[in-house]
Amino acid sequence: SKCSQDGIFTKGELLRYGPIELSPSSGVLNYGQGLFEGLKAYKKEDGSILLFRPHENALRMRMGAERMCMPSPAVEQFVNAVKLTVLANKRWVPPTGKGSLYIRPLLFGSGTVLGLAPAPEYTFLIFVSPVGNYFKEGLAPINLVVENEFHRAAPGGTGGVKTIGNYASVLKAQKRAKENGYSDVLYLDSIHKKYLEEVSSCNIFVVKNNIISTPEIKGTILPGITRKSIIDVARGQGYQVEERLVSVEELLDADEVFCTGTAVVVSPVGSITYLGRKVEYKNSGIGVVSQQVYSSLTSLQMGLTEDKMGWTMKLN
Ligand code: PMP
Repeated sequence: SKCSQDGIFTKGELLRYGPIELSPSSGVLNYGQGLFEGLKAYKKEDGSILLFRPHENALRMRMGAERMCMPSPAVEQFVNAVKLTVLANKRWVPPTGKGSLYIRPLLFGSGTVLGLAPAPEYTFLIFVSPVGNYFKEGLAPINLVVENEFHRAAPGGTGGVKTIGNYASVLKAQKRAKENGYSDVLYLDSIHKKYLEEVSSCNIFVVKNNIISTPEIKGTILPGITRKSIIDVARGQGYQVEERLVSVEELLDADEVFCTGTAVVVSPVGSITYLGRKVEYKNSGIGVVSQQVYSSLTSLQMGLTEDKMGWTMKLN
């Protein structure tokens, strides 16, 4: 049965950043009925502000809303709200090359429920924050550990949508990995414990003999917008890109490994530790493919190259 519907989101207004009122019996606080999105606005040298594929975030939120039994804003309503919020915060968009404005849309059950059920009312809001470049020197390698105890998602679960609970479930594994000196955790599938899924907040790519492979989207990993864009960019550059099951053995045997996401953009993997065995990649993982896709994507996002795909949206 269809769970979501187009929501009628009224009372749209710009408010000063600050605490919001929320009922103790709201759906989000009690049953985790909430979704978020993440995208970035970049400033060009001429002062204009660019969004990167905001319609994709709107569509992903709608898909998530269906899974979480929530009404969702229409695509245009979502994109217009993002535009309005960014333009109202124009002065917080860092200058070219100094970072971006991170945009965080939230959709959650704000109506009250006592027994388990979808909330009767929802709130859609957006807040923003300037962020520096994730890595100061462009590409910086990260060291990942393959997680063997915890799984991020199971088939039939909510791994494929950006619901808040997915992030609560990885906090423990991520904290432990950081305490042990790793940058982040790489999750394996929960059935075979053998196929790559994703990192806590980014997707993963493996390069072998110039063929690029990435885990396919089948409900347990987030369909990253950066992932999708990198697949197109790499194919446009003549690379063969495969979306399929990728085993942990292939990962350890790869020429290059990199992660993609809104926050990290493209981030090469310098080393992987699996069951206590550490594999280090050549040149700390900063390989030719990682470099190429990184430059192509960042110059597009910052408006430095012609946008033949029509992926960027100019706000002013
Ligand atoms: N996987 C997870 C679990 C994430 O949280 C994110 C960040 N949204 C990604 C992948 C990458 O998605 P995107 O490229 O759309 O930021």
